[in-house]
Amino acid sequence: MNAPATAGTVRRPDAAGSNLRADALIAWPLIEKLVGFPTVSRDSNLALLDWVRDYLAGHGVESTYTWNDERTKANLWATLPSRDGNTTTGGVVLSGHTDVVPIDGQPWHTDPFRAVVSGDRVFGRGVTDMKSFSATGLAMVPEFLRRGLERPLHFALSYDEEVGCIGVRRLIADVVAKGIRPMGCIIGEPTGMRLVLAHKGKRSWRGHVRGWEAHNSLTPRGVNAVQIACEIVGYIGKRARQFREQGHRDEAYDVPYTTAHVGVIHGGTAVNIVPRDCSFDFEIRHLPKDDPEAFGRDVEAFAREFLPQMHAVHPDTHIEFELLSVLPGMDTADGTPIATLAHACNGDADVGKVSFGTEASLFQGSDIPSVICGPGHIEQAHQPDEWVAIDQLARCEAFMRRLADRICAR
Ligand SMILES: [Zn+2]
Repeated sequence: MNAPATAGTVRRPDAAGSNLRADALIAWPLIEKLVGFPTVSRDSNLALLDWVRDYLAGHGVESTYTWNDERTKANLWATLPSRDGNTTTGGVVLSGHTDVVPIDGQPWHTDPFRAVVSGDRVFGRGVTDMKSFSATGLAMVPEFLRRGLERPLHFALSYDEEVGCIGVRRLIADVVAKGIRPMGCIIGEPTGMRLVLAHKGKRSWRGHVRGWEAHNSLTPRGVNAVQIACEIVGYIGKRARQFREQGHRDEAYDVPYTTAHVGVIHGGTAVNIVPRDCSFDFEIRHLPKDDPEAFGRDVEAFAREFLPQMHAVHPDTHIEFELLSVLPGMDTADGTPIATLAHACNGDADVGKVSFGTEASLFQGSDIPSVICGPGHIEQAHQPDEWVAIDQLARCEAFMRRLADRICAR
């Protein structure tokens, strides 16, 4: 779906986008540049970061990195000081993650690591989730500096967001340790440039069933790890249906109830062997009223019911659960200074809630009030042929220009 126009077909741009050109955007060269770095979460983001560091240095702005343990990835933090030299207090953070989800197995019609314009859209991995927001903020640096800032402006570029908001935790700890106290943070995840003040919390686990191998003609002498795992997977599906049909609802969310699902399952080696191992990754994305820990405990309790029959076949069998990630929900009050500022920047009084987790909850958890507002739509994120409307990029640019009007000297 949403494939770009192929040779011989002509995409008819919609009315809103018909007179917009990507190369008229102030951020276009930076969008092209950032999308060109294949920063899939499992790989290093340092090439992108070093490029941004050099770009900022070219404007006299220093960057600092906070590293992962292996020093293969880092977060970048950079501050444009206010005219009076303030770098620590009352500033605004523009935050974006540098990593993108993999393209493995996805049927792309363009080179994913090239920003390709087709009609009124730009295609490429990360154009909506979420390099364009960062590119637009960075593209405005010369203007912020030329006009002079009344309060500091910070850039926070993180690694490993897509695999559980891992990297940014170190950046935030560093910022807090240095005594930097921003007034708030704007996270440019795709919201269609609508202001989002709340999102669901998330928790994910890996379940692992260790069965007992046997020849496929002797199934009662083995413990079939795949089939037990599938029973547990089925239970998770049943709980997801209960959340949908009987659980709490908040219609302000795009999905107004708690969801749960299994995203990965690995098990077995061949059809003629009773499988010994099966693992499965699952998660819950919950409304504030639903308890993610209780859900996890219920899944574990359901799994424990299989243990007696497993142990009756062989004692060296078990089921284990590993907590993979925890992301709290977030809820910023409308009327908080950062929310008021963001309303003024997107020119819209409307607020939304979203079902996807973001780094906003982690900034929020460290007393940095946060909002989410960025170009593009989550429906296009993580997809083959990820795209963003040029109109959305223009709205992001307008947002940054209004931000400059409000935080720069008059
Ligand atoms: Zn994202």
